[in-house]
Amino acid sequence: MKNEFTYISEFINQIDVCCPNCGSKSVVKSDANNRNNTRFICSKCGKSKIWNGQSSTYYYSNNYKESEGILIGHPVDCYFKYPLWYTKQIKNQTLFAYNKEHLNFLEEYINDSIRERRQGEYGWKNTSLESRLPKWLLLSKNREVILKAIKEIKEIN
Ligand SMILES: [Zn+2]
Repeated sequence: MKNEFTYISEFINQIDVCCPNCGSKSVVKSDANNRNNTRFICSKCGKSKIWNGQSSTYYYSNNYKESEGILIGHPVDCYFKYPLWYTKQIKNQTLFAYNKEHLNFLEEYINDSIRERRQGEYGWKNTSLESRLPKWLLLSKNREVILKAIKEIKEIN
């Protein structure tokens, strides 16, 4: 499970979330070398919290509220499971990003995949990464609407 976790790990050291107390944009900070050192702080209302989860457990489960490990692949931060700040509903799916860098990464990745298809190359540059991203995100029929959604998220933030 840890290998599969690698590609996303650079985006989860600082995660922008909606404060569960006041709804403002706030942040969860985590030390990449020590996930036990993870805390939430809202500069607006002052709410703060230290994470006490299982720092060695990574999972993708849908039953994430019942577990205290590090969750990836859902529109919540990996630790406290607070709602992410950068989200947008597309059809019945949720586009989400942990922070602005992650949002830019998704945008670039989708743009790259369009370029590669046009060049007629053999599929994706990074197949291991492709398998980590949700299928609907990579469907060519969805690209236009996803890129538009990313642009809209950027404009309001
Ligand atoms: Zn707050």
